[in-house]
Amino acid sequence: MILSKANRLTAEQLAEVTQIVTEFGCKIQPIIGAVRTIYAIVGDERDELMINRLEGLPYIERIDRIQSQFKLMDKRSDLASHRIALGGVTLGEELFVIAGQCTIDPKNPNYFYETAEAVKEAGAHVLRGGVWKPRTNPYAFQGDVKSLDILMEGHRRTGLPVDAEVMDEHHLRLALDAGVHMLQIGARNALNYSLLRAIGRAVAERDTVVLLKRGLHMGSLNEFISAAEYIVSFGNPNIILCPRGTAPTLDGYRNHPDESITPLLKEKTWAPVVVDPSHSVGKAVYVPACALAAVAYGADGLCIEAHVEPARGIGDDPKQALTPGVLADTISQARQMWALRHSIKTA
Ligand code: PEP
Ligand code: MN
Repeated sequence: MILSKANRLTAEQLAEVTQIVTEFGCKIQPIIGAVRTIYAIVGDERDELMINRLEGLPYIERIDRIQSQFKLMDKRSDLASHRIALGGVTLGEELFVIAGQCTIDPKNPNYFYETAEAVKEAGAHVLRGGVWKPRTNPYAFQGDVKSLDILMEGHRRTGLPVDAEVMDEHHLRLALDAGVHMLQIGARNALNYSLLRAIGRAVAERDTVVLLKRGLHMGSLNEFISAAEYIVSFGNPNIILCPRGTAPTLDGYRNHPDESITPLLKEKTWAPVVVDPSHSVGKAVYVPACALAAVAYGADGLCIEAHVEPARGIGDDPKQALTPGVLADTISQARQMWALRHSIKTA
């Protein structure tokens, strides 16, 4: 839909606009109002170059797209009936929980094994464990490939599927070869289109699930959903969207909590939404409330950092990991919130 700066286009302007859209196989249909005329683009209006050329015209105010830029992630796509199942849960049918350490300490694997048993006991369906870590400080612990064996041992001991972040294609290959069930794309890599493509290609023929975190600086929902489209376009629709707080931060919280975008995402896409309250608020004491708020907003699940002894953890664990007792309470309250939420009539 084309809106001009003036109330209507002049004959010359309309001719120029028509010539551009015709090059892309579209037509213009003026919609004449009492004061203002707007111009519908009839045809497939998704071509970026056509939109850029129209937006570049000095007399155009803006172009509103009617069609979605993401064909597969769109709620109206055939994939809308796709269901993702992992850890004995079909997402959307009951509250789905990923929990475990931010970072596996390769020098103290027993903490991870104890955490793994504890998160299972607390009711989690997937065990998370950071093997490679994106760290702001280059001198901070960056992770260690030895932790991949520890992660997989956690899987063997508990039977829970495991989730780990991959930051490059080398990690991706190692994680897939080891049998990691869920690949996490972190907030810093959510706009790394080469990595998104590589992951899409690598999981195309598998049933691996991809947890895509919301980018730290992502504003528009389209940017987030389009990042997911990159992966799904290779053929594996097992994608989960994970709001985890954005920048700029809210005073006192690590990031700006963004669980409230859940219903907005759900209006545009069929993909399940699993909120990460741990990175959102960044302090263990605030995590349970953020988790409950996420479920109240309609999240399908939660991704929570937990540790048997947070003070002895590494990475984010000393500040934001929940102890097993608090995790168990949070999951149980979140389940009650889930039931309450699903009993609310929205129309
Ligand atoms: C993490 O999950 O530990 C992590 C680093 O997440 P994010 O990419 O959301 O910061
Ligand atoms: Mn972390």
